[in-house]
Amino acid sequence: MAFKALNLSEPVLRGIQAAGYTDPTPIQLRAIPVVLGGGDLIGSAQTGTGKTAAFALPIISRLGKHAAKPRVLVLEPTRELAAQVETAFRDFARFTDLRTVAVFGGVGYGLQRSELRKGVDIIAATPGRLMDYVHDGSINLRDIQILVLDEVDRMLDMGFLPVVKDIIGRCPRERQTLFFSATVPPEIQAVASFALRNPQRVEVGVNRSVNRSINHALYPVALAQKFDLLVALLAKTDFDSVLVFSRTKHGADKIARKLKSANHSVAVLHANRSQNQRIEALAGFKSGKYEVMVATDIAARGIDVAGVTHVINYDVPENPEDYVHRIGRTGRAQAVGDAFTLVTPENADDIRDIQRFIGQKIPELRLEGFDYLPFGVAQPKQPRGQQGGGHRGGGHRGGGGGQRGGFRGGHANRDSNGGKVAFQFRGRRG
Ligand code: AMP
Repeated sequence: MAFKALNLSEPVLRGIQAAGYTDPTPIQLRAIPVVLGGGDLIGSAQTGTGKTAAFALPIISRLGKHAAKPRVLVLEPTRELAAQVETAFRDFARFTDLRTVAVFGGVGYGLQRSELRKGVDIIAATPGRLMDYVHDGSINLRDIQILVLDEVDRMLDMGFLPVVKDIIGRCPRERQTLFFSATVPPEIQAVASFALRNPQRVEVGVNRSVNRSINHALYPVALAQKFDLLVALLAKTDFDSVLVFSRTKHGADKIARKLKSANHSVAVLHANRSQNQRIEALAGFKSGKYEVMVATDIAARGIDVAGVTHVINYDVPENPEDYVHRIGRTGRAQAVGDAFTLVTPENADDIRDIQRFIGQKIPELRLEGFDYLPFGVAQPKQPRGQQGGGHRGGGHRGGGGGQRGGFRGGHANRDSNGGKVAFQFRGRRG
């Protein structure tokens, strides 16, 4: 079905065309009619499924013309998501006269305040900074018609529950509320019951599942060899951009420092960095200035960087859900991606939990020189198309001319049924 059949407004259809989208994704197909109809919604979908457009497109359609008072409030757990979602709204609304603003902490108040003074229709905000403006009178929530609570599970993990409840209480009772959460455990259901009225549920895919276009693998390694394995994987992998996850901020800084001395261009993203540093890191990673970004889980949710070809979990994530979120940073919107997890013997329980959570065994691969013996993680079948033991002998980083040797580790091919057939080696590029 094309977007045209969904009854979106003419300017929105033009915005969609300008964004280059041709067909709605499953969550868009199911959520857009509900939102256009004015109903409340609880949506859960895998990352990278087009969730933002699923709410932004019908919201812009419903708003129509600029009215210089905030009518839509979108709450996001992180500054990066608030900025990203505001950009999506602005892009889709480019053929309307609607005004949008992103409101988040860590940066000065001046610019945001001057945007607010001009009169905005749509605010994408993190809870803390939004409340600063509510308290000083720069933002009034009495005209909010549509409230979007995005990534609610993350918002609660981050301790935003009291302020989110306060914000909900300040919006008019007569409103439309859209609620998105990867999982809906009882404490989140309680917020939903408090915030929503007769919501329709839209679920796409299985919450716990890994996007089918992602090839993921475990690399067992001794603790002392972790960093060397990371460097070896990068050298052997034909990547465009790699997101490396560390469990701690300190660890992220350390990995980044070491990678820089190994001649990689590296950005770092974690909560102890200033907002300007975070903005610069993400922008540089998006533009290709940095080939590697080392991040904590702050980057795992929702951040949309086109063309992340590889995710490497330097540390196994603490929560099984974070595994799905982290590796969801690659393979977004129909692209394929690879995700590797470095596993030391201490991680055996975490890996068992993750495999139980996602309902599948993660294939285990080895790199020559890092033949750490297994520790109870199931041995997968050797994927077809691979020679010898795992990624052995897959090539090297090219010397002159910036060529990269090696392979795109585990890049999926699809058979005629759309299933993965094998991890395949690729020839040299460039
Ligand atoms: P999201 O899940 O909202 O973070 O979106 C993931 C990515 O999919 C973003 O880069 C979107 O621009 C892209 N996207 C969303 N909807 C579509 C669509 N209908 N067709 C193609 N790409 C899309």
